[in-house]
Amino acid sequence: DVETAIKVVVVGNGAVGKSSMIQRYCKGIFTKDYKKTIGVDFLERQIEVNNEDIRLMLWDTAGQEEFDAITKAYYRGAQACVLVFSTTDRQSFEAIESWKGKVEDECGDIPTVLVQNKIDLLEDAKVETEEADTLAKKLKLRFYRTSVKDNLNVDDVFRYLADKYLER
Ligand code: GDP
Ligand code: MG
Repeated sequence: DVETAIKVVVVGNGAVGKSSMIQRYCKGIFTKDYKKTIGVDFLERQIEVNNEDIRLMLWDTAGQEEFDAITKAYYRGAQACVLVFSTTDRQSFEAIESWKGKVEDECGDIPTVLVQNKIDLLEDAKVETEEADTLAKKLKLRFYRTSVKDNLNVDDVFRYLADKYLER
């Protein structure tokens, strides 16, 4: 009985909380100034879905997304994707379709989820709730609002992707 492992890429503009989300989910911690550990491409966490052990490998970037310089090696073999924007960053919201296109070009049609992070900062919101809902509908994506800081809905994002992957 071979264990199922899923490579998940977490993409979106810089500073939306991608590295924090990976740290939160895999290590259970949140730090204000997370710096990528040199030499580590991904962190992993094992979960059980339908009595099956699933190993989720969450791939992080070292900030190359800021320069539009993510390499093919990052996307290679990815089986699921998290598209992240930030509640407080309008540009990160407007960049979502472009990120989705990049992932599709490299990986084809893989289970994907849309995430609005930093929901704890709603008072500083630069994106209307309705706009985000509309984008999710347009792109036909499951949509989650998370706070990595407050550990809100983060587990749900990855459980959804694991479920979706298994039901292919
Ligand atoms: P990345 O560039 O997408 O990997 O973003 P980082 O994980 O480095 O996060 C950028 C900044 O946002 C850091 O200062 C994080 O502590 C902060 N951050 C991440 N998630 C949240 C969140 O849910 N709420 C708040 N308030 N800050 C967050
Ligand atoms: Mg990062």
